[in-house]
Amino acid sequence: MTYKSWFDAHAKQHKEIVEKLVACGKTKDEIIEYFVFENMVKNEPDFCPLYAQNKKCHDTKHLNCYLCACPYFRFSDAGVEKVDGKTKFSFCSIDAKKGKAGVYGDAIHQDCSACTVPHAKSYVEKNFDLDWTKIMNKCVLK
Ligand code: SF4
Repeated sequence: MTYKSWFDAHAKQHKEIVEKLVACGKTKDEIIEYFVFENMVKNEPDFCPLYAQNKKCHDTKHLNCYLCACPYFRFSDAGVEKVDGKTKFSFCSIDAKKGKAGVYGDAIHQDCSACTVPHAKSYVEKNFDLDWTKIMNKCVLK
């Protein structure tokens, strides 16, 4: 699966869930609360493949899934640039302290496994929009 195909499929799933919640009259706070990991595992099992194993993507007590992946993530399936003969496909636009470049053979991908920036409730509240694609509008590099 390419970054872009995941991104588009995720946007569609996210939109369907948000539309369902809005149709039920849920408020912003209730929508954010709905996207808490434990609730999503129970009520939206198809949203993330990790839900089937009840496994979090990050080892953190409070995990909110509203802003998976991350507004700071940047990617290009064609490659962003060449670095020492390898192709970089993604990076973090704020060079977050806990993010790092992962090298996988000839490919470099941003490794966010230790970074929980977009999963904190306060971050989701601050960056909230019903339209996930608006929040993520800088992620896809042409
Ligand atoms: S390192 Fe953190 S802030 Fe940067 S893209 Fe990854 S999750 Fe987002």
